Amino acid sequence: MRRKLILKQQENKKEREIFQYFTNQKIRFSLSSRLVLLVGITVAVSVIVALLLAWFLNWLIPAFDKLPPAVLLVLFSLLIALAVTKVFSHLFFESIKDMREGMKRVADGDFAIRLETKSNSVEIQEMIAGFNLMAKELGSIEMLQSDFVSNVSHEFKTPIGAIEGYTTLLQDTENLSEDQQRYVDKILYNTHRLSTLVSNILFLSKIENLDIPSNQKLYRLDEQIRESIVALETEWSVKEIEFDVDLDAIEYLGDESILHHIWDNLIGNAIKFSPTGGEIRIQLKQKREEVLFMIEDQGPGILEEAKKHIYDKFYQADTSHKEQGNGLGLALVKRILELSEGTITVENVQEGGCRFVVSLPVKKY
Ligand code: ADP
Repeated sequence: MRRKLILKQQENKKEREIFQYFTNQKIRFSLSSRLVLLVGITVAVSVIVALLLAWFLNWLIPAFDKLPPAVLLVLFSLLIALAVTKVFSHLFFESIKDMREGMKRVADGDFAIRLETKSNSVEIQEMIAGFNLMAKELGSIEMLQSDFVSNVSHEFKTPIGAIEGYTTLLQDTENLSEDQQRYVDKILYNTHRLSTLVSNILFLSKIENLDIPSNQKLYRLDEQIRESIVALETEWSVKEIEFDVDLDAIEYLGDESILHHIWDNLIGNAIKFSPTGGEIRIQLKQKREEVLFMIEDQGPGILEEAKKHIYDKFYQADTSHKEQGNGLGLALVKRILELSEGTITVENVQEGGCRFVVSLPVKKY
């Protein structure tokens, strides 16, 4: 970890040196005094040029003689002043416009952005260099944090695996009292939750560092969804949940190994939030350039104010099911869809419950 930090600091050096170069520059005239000077010069130049133009036009077209000279002067001064201001304001304000755009991108988490300026003003160059340094530093911090999370999660995996293994052995021991059996079950249940949490954190940190899905190949999407339903049989059979499944046979070009998390999470949530004996409707259709997956349950639905947070990490709107999840499922789904250029929407259905719709673009092979 320490070596990585030193490397990151060296990478940042370029941006830091540029920033320091500009901060060390002596500023003879401040930006505001230059602006005042510029306005003064513009006014003087436009009055002189306007006078000359008015005189020239009077000489060229005698009809202009009838207009009072003051009107011509005001008119020409205005036009010239506007043109000059337009040119110079471009120099000053273009960088501020870029900066606004850059800030928005940083706020959206894009720390790779760097700005450039054509301005000669030291203040503006210093501001741009400061912005670039800030974006670089934020990027490094984020990288260090995700490296840290992923390292810690890896370290957790082995001991949790050992606890899980030994507790499973204990569970099979014959002469355990009822209480002891209960404790063993509880240990197993909680280690299982912990190991799911660690796996989810590891997977999320892995896909957050991906730019594009790595293993794209053509495969049957409907079969993958069917496999997800079957894999969750233990959960839906105890709740006696019925399925109404209508899946078109669709060959899809995508990363099979990450896309299955979408179906596992959405179907898993629908089961979790469904009442006993409820029904879950699942559809998969292809519409021209997109594949649409729809899942509808008869659970409690999602409150309007919670809808915008359900994709946040660790957010759980319905705390009555807190124990059965960790709030990472939909964050994973959202990230996988971002990578796959897909989208997800959710709405409550009138009869109760909610409907999630996933749209994936059809890519050419
Ligand atoms: P969790 O592990 O808690 O299920 P998720 O990220 O999958 O985490 O979901 C976040 C929250 O969104 C859930 O805690 C729940 O409040 C809400 N949610 C997701 N799916 C459903 C659903 N089908 N019905 C009702 N609420 C849901």
